[in-house]
Amino acid sequence: MSILEVKHLQKSFGTIRAVEDISFSVHAGEIFTIIGPNGAGKTTTLEMIEGLVPPDHGEIYFGELNWDKNSKTIKKMIGVQPQSSAMFDLLTPEENLNLFATFYDKSRPTEEILKLINLTEHRNNHVKKLSGGQRQRLAIGLAMISDPDIIFLDEPTTGLDPQARRNIWDIILQLKELGKTTILTTHYMEEAEKLSDRVCIVDQGKIVTIDTPSALIEQLTKEREVRLSFIDGEDVAEEANNFSKNLESVIRTEREEMSLKLWTTNPEDTLFHLFAFTKEKNFQVEQVSIREMSLEDVFIAFTGKEWRD
Ligand code: ATP
Repeated sequence: MSILEVKHLQKSFGTIRAVEDISFSVHAGEIFTIIGPNGAGKTTTLEMIEGLVPPDHGEIYFGELNWDKNSKTIKKMIGVQPQSSAMFDLLTPEENLNLFATFYDKSRPTEEILKLINLTEHRNNHVKKLSGGQRQRLAIGLAMISDPDIIFLDEPTTGLDPQARRNIWDIILQLKELGKTTILTTHYMEEAEKLSDRVCIVDQGKIVTIDTPSALIEQLTKEREVRLSFIDGEDVAEEANNFSKNLESVIRTEREEMSLKLWTTNPEDTLFHLFAFTKEKNFQVEQVSIREMSLEDVFIAFTGKEWRD
């Protein structure tokens, strides 16, 4: 069931076309991730959906409701992660949550939120003493305080170290368990791949593609990259290279010093023949790996551009 539908959103700031044409629908209970490089239009898209920025064109529907006619009801349905500047630095996490709770008719118990965001231990410390990751967790807690159905998180992990990022991932997954719908933006492909039910890749204000991470990866060519390195020197690697080129499943090869990269449609078959060859020749293979395709490959395949965080 669709809980949110946006159709042909457009927004310009002067001559900058921040969002050119964005349409998608979000299903109830899913983690829907908008991913794209800097300046792709993610924040602008989110802010239009959150009712903070009016679109130049396009429609936004929460079920049957829209901002023009039903803004009060929509505000009760959604939770927006506040900018860190909106938190009160001289108050504690508990006091911030209690204060934000007074803004709404209904709220989730502070105790429960503190547990969800793993800040029970720091409930009485001033927010200004919290780490970046702890502040971001509190921001998610503040978005949750009114117990909304839909939660918007705009790059909640940007600038955090890997462990702090994983802690945020755990919270986002718990939101899903609670039956919430999460709309997330990120720069990090790994994050989108790990968390999302569906991913919407945007670039230059337009949608590149939308699907589940696994379907997107499967859409790529069935070609896989196999890497080998040899102990016995460049000549050996070159011989293996020449042998590989003639295998039916191998599309192309690249040799660099003692390493060999192969692109194959059938890694099993390629390695079977190649290992038979190296055994016969008594060549020693040091390392073998088959590279998994990732969302990063999807981005490159669709846009022809390298992905940069
Ligand atoms: P980032 O990952 O860097 O946050 P983003 O994908 O969220 O990028 P937006 O912040 O939506 O992208 O910005 C899209 C484009 O619109 C950028 O070129 C940005 O500079 C521009 N832009 C966004 N907000 C404004 C504004 N208020 N005034 C002028 N230009 C803006």
